Amino acid sequence: MHTPVRVGAWSQPGANVCPVFQPRTDPTLHGILNPTMATACPVTRELDALDHQHLWHPFTPMRQWRQVEPLIIERAEGCELIDVDGNRYLDGVSSLWCNVHGHQVPQIDAAIRAQLDKVAHTTLLGLASPPSIELAARLCELAPGRLNKVFYSDAGATAIEVAFKMAVGYWHHHGQPEKDHFVGFHGAYHGDTTGAMSVGFTDLFHRPFVSMVFPTTLVPVPNASHPSEQIAPAVKTERTEDGVWPSEDKAVNEALRDRCLAELDAILNEKRDRVAAVVIEPVMQGAAGMVCHPPGFLRGVADLSRKHDTLLIADEVATGFGRTGTLFACEHERVEPDLMCLAKGITGGYLPLAATLATDKIESAFCGDVSDRRTLYHGHTYTGNALGCAAALASLDLIQSQDLLGHINGSAAMIADRLDTLRDPVTYPHVLDVRQRGLMVGIELGEDRSHHRSLDPDRRTGAQLCEAMRRQGLILRPLGDIIVLMPIPAMPQDHLARMLDIVVETILDWPVEGD
Ligand code: PLP
Repeated sequence: MHTPVRVGAWSQPGANVCPVFQPRTDPTLHGILNPTMATACPVTRELDALDHQHLWHPFTPMRQWRQVEPLIIERAEGCELIDVDGNRYLDGVSSLWCNVHGHQVPQIDAAIRAQLDKVAHTTLLGLASPPSIELAARLCELAPGRLNKVFYSDAGATAIEVAFKMAVGYWHHHGQPEKDHFVGFHGAYHGDTTGAMSVGFTDLFHRPFVSMVFPTTLVPVPNASHPSEQIAPAVKTERTEDGVWPSEDKAVNEALRDRCLAELDAILNEKRDRVAAVVIEPVMQGAAGMVCHPPGFLRGVADLSRKHDTLLIADEVATGFGRTGTLFACEHERVEPDLMCLAKGITGGYLPLAATLATDKIESAFCGDVSDRRTLYHGHTYTGNALGCAAALASLDLIQSQDLLGHINGSAAMIADRLDTLRDPVTYPHVLDVRQRGLMVGIELGEDRSHHRSLDPDRRTGAQLCEAMRRQGLILRPLGDIIVLMPIPAMPQDHLARMLDIVVETILDWPVEGD
């Protein structure tokens, strides 16, 4: 039904120049318009109109969305997304942090097709299936510590809800039903269902739903860029040295880490008889703005959870499957959580599948005579979907056979090296901090580095910079004024180099008010 796809010149073998792309958004924004770019065909215009009439996009201000033409992605190859007009873009956000090996990966495609020749989906309520069994065994083999049971669902948020019910149920079955409270961290994001919102409440996203969420306790995190008012007075946070990002200042980070752990210790001590679990995004809080925790913080949280007899839930939805340089982020500090949530990259970014991993100790609390009423009565229709499990098995094969972790660590070093140029305060006065863990990167923009002042959010600088990058063939999605880089872990390094060039040069070129 669509016009044939036009292949961009720079995707041809040997091509090394990045073309400029058709602006499907406000053409008056900063950027160069290319007279040779593909123009929207009538079919595309019809799709635009139908999208505006019928689609409600997630996390999207819909009135503003309808004021511009949507970018409609029709297909993808490797690490490039291709729109309905044939323009190609690097997928710089891994299709929202989930793609691992690229798109149209022959081995994953073949695994899904082979499974499709058998069956697409059968229920796990009262029946079993080969791919769900094989995947469960494989995940337990790879997971840290004693995680030995897998409960499937279909999104990161549902994996969290399952972990919460396992934690509360565990204490209930142990005769401590009053242990039903959760402790999380400032800025955390665990998804958009009610329980997940409760431990990741933000005024911007959730204000109308405040009556729906249940009470939780949120503890400050060591965030040297924006230290919580609760702990900042006790710690000297002014920066002394030029060229050192706040997130790298060892002394400040260690002081903040110790203050936050002391706060957690006090809270867990006070609520010892009430807390079912502490839930943490290990090592890097993604949606909080790529906030990386200093070494020792995760270990400290794990030790305090043990000390105060509470469970530890690791939310590895974003960090899992190599994103931070180890298969799971808990490995950085040899932490063994009681419950671990996986989603996003589990299928290589192909299909909606999630898993909550639990220790035998937790699962056995739910076992007994039927009359004991210990069964975990929770499940989703597509739990353990066979196509998703087949994709996940193929993805794990690729991670292991292609030394993906080695590739990720090489790419992470390359990113650090290229972004080093942003340290120069004269050339880049509007870069306040660069935070990186493996392939999770946040570049925080602000008014002025020396005073660490944020930008006026109404100017939407982060969004406008990403629009400018889009016109150069790179898709990114910012978090406010933080430019998020989340390259596909298997992205070839020539693609990565092009992505980094676009990012650095767009920041350099951006006209700043008053300049
Ligand atoms: N947990 C973390 C750490 C996340 O980053 C996300 C999504 O970004 C979620 C949970 C929710 O995942 P989903 O969108 O699949 O529900």
